[in-house]
Amino acid sequence: MKNRLSILHVSSEVAPYAKTGGLADVVGSLPAAQSSLDHDVRVILPFYRVVGEGNFEVRKVISKFEVPISGTIKEGELFEAESDRNVKVYCVRQDTYFDRAHLYGTPEGDYPDNAERFAFLCRSLLPVCDALDLKPDIIHCHDWQTGLIPSYVRTLWSDEILFANTSCCYTIHNLAYQGLFPREVMALIGLPDEEFTAAGVEFWGRINFMKAGINYSDVITTVSPKYSREIQTPEYGYGLDSVLRERSEDLFGILNGIDTDVWDPENDRFLKANYSVHDLSGKKKCKDDILETFKVNIDSSKAPLFGVISRLADQKGFDLLAEIMDDLMTLDVGLVLLGTGDQRYQDMFQKIAVRYPGKMGVRIAFDNALAHKIEAGCDVFLMPSKYEPCGLNQMYSLRYGTVPLVRATGGLDDTVEHYDPRTGRGNGFKFYDYAADELFKKIREAIEFYHDREAWSHLMRNAMQTDFSWARSARRYLEIYENTIEKRMKGVSQ
Ligand code: ADP
Repeated sequence: MKNRLSILHVSSEVAPYAKTGGLADVVGSLPAAQSSLDHDVRVILPFYRVVGEGNFEVRKVISKFEVPISGTIKEGELFEAESDRNVKVYCVRQDTYFDRAHLYGTPEGDYPDNAERFAFLCRSLLPVCDALDLKPDIIHCHDWQTGLIPSYVRTLWSDEILFANTSCCYTIHNLAYQGLFPREVMALIGLPDEEFTAAGVEFWGRINFMKAGINYSDVITTVSPKYSREIQTPEYGYGLDSVLRERSEDLFGILNGIDTDVWDPENDRFLKANYSVHDLSGKKKCKDDILETFKVNIDSSKAPLFGVISRLADQKGFDLLAEIMDDLMTLDVGLVLLGTGDQRYQDMFQKIAVRYPGKMGVRIAFDNALAHKIEAGCDVFLMPSKYEPCGLNQMYSLRYGTVPLVRATGGLDDTVEHYDPRTGRGNGFKFYDYAADELFKKIREAIEFYHDREAWSHLMRNAMQTDFSWARSARRYLEIYENTIEKRMKGVSQ
């Protein structure tokens, strides 16, 4: 086995270049952790409008490559974006597809040509690798937008010398978003018709990009051990549970890490004051700052402040929060919420905030600086998710001494250990049944502990000392790559 692997990640989002959620954070930080273990690691993402507007240099590395798509040839260009990590970051440029205001769609809905846009990204891989003379050992694909790549590698590109020794790893970051398109899309993406079967890309008469990723990859991972078990059940499988059960030997749950340079209360440039587990005094200043920002007038040293930062989507448990809002607001607490997403949740929270001036603050926006300030300035971070593949915000909260209160699902269950005052163990609060009264009970319990200053300070310190750096998970990915390559080589030589 060679020691230095050539690893190529392909993702529709990579922080800090383009981000709508946790996927960007993961593909923004895992490659750097792998590169620090002395591997050649590169990343490809689309050249969206935000990439061009970003605060970093880009330079053209391939002025023209050709991609067959929709029965014709479309041209693309490749840019390399400046990176402060030891990772090469490439952006595939095709302005008719990617020079748009959003990544996936407007608030009214998805872009109607998403199949074509992301098929273009996937099919550009061959000419791009060709031009770069890159023969990756591992192509690591992330979520539905890149699901076609393994299917191309195993069908259209099976004789390509560039990929003769390539294994495909596919990571499911969220099984609920699968990339489902009508059958006619087969002609557009150029896969042979015989792949339109249940063992290929077909899913109830339609084409499913995520299923392609699962069926044609050598190995599949998802972002927490618990979620890897959950998605093999009908309740969390979104119709793909049986497909995943069939591949259970090749399916691994690896907990995401966090970027401890970007999310670090000791050095976070967005905060009013920095602090650490050894000196928490700055956290109070961060709380005062956030109270002022949101015009919440609770007594900063006596009343706990709850925080939420989230995509406003059904998955995140906002129906539970809505049910308890009136009861919660009768207590001596404050609540701040930052989010964007479904119109009905945006409207709902804005309406509730109007009813509780001075107690609840809502900001409908995507604001990275404010997200850092909330992580630091709150006492309790709420994540009552219906399901949560991994979740990053609870890990950021832990690092910032903001105690997470979560529902025990997916990665939330794997990362949060319920506080036990008798043993002093635990780093947060968990409830189990997806029910509003369970959430409310847990919130009341957290408030009680908050008023026990000794217990709370112990809990905060436990939280801040939980280690979610990438080192362990990055090594686990490498082990999985190596086993996969070995297995594949054995298969080929037999
Ligand atoms: P998901 O990927 O399901 O959205 P995660 O918890 O895994 O959830 O990751 C969410 C990421 O997106 C975090 O980095 C979080 O801070 C960020 N985020 C979500 N909503 C916003 C927002 N409105 N403003 C700024 N950052 C946000």
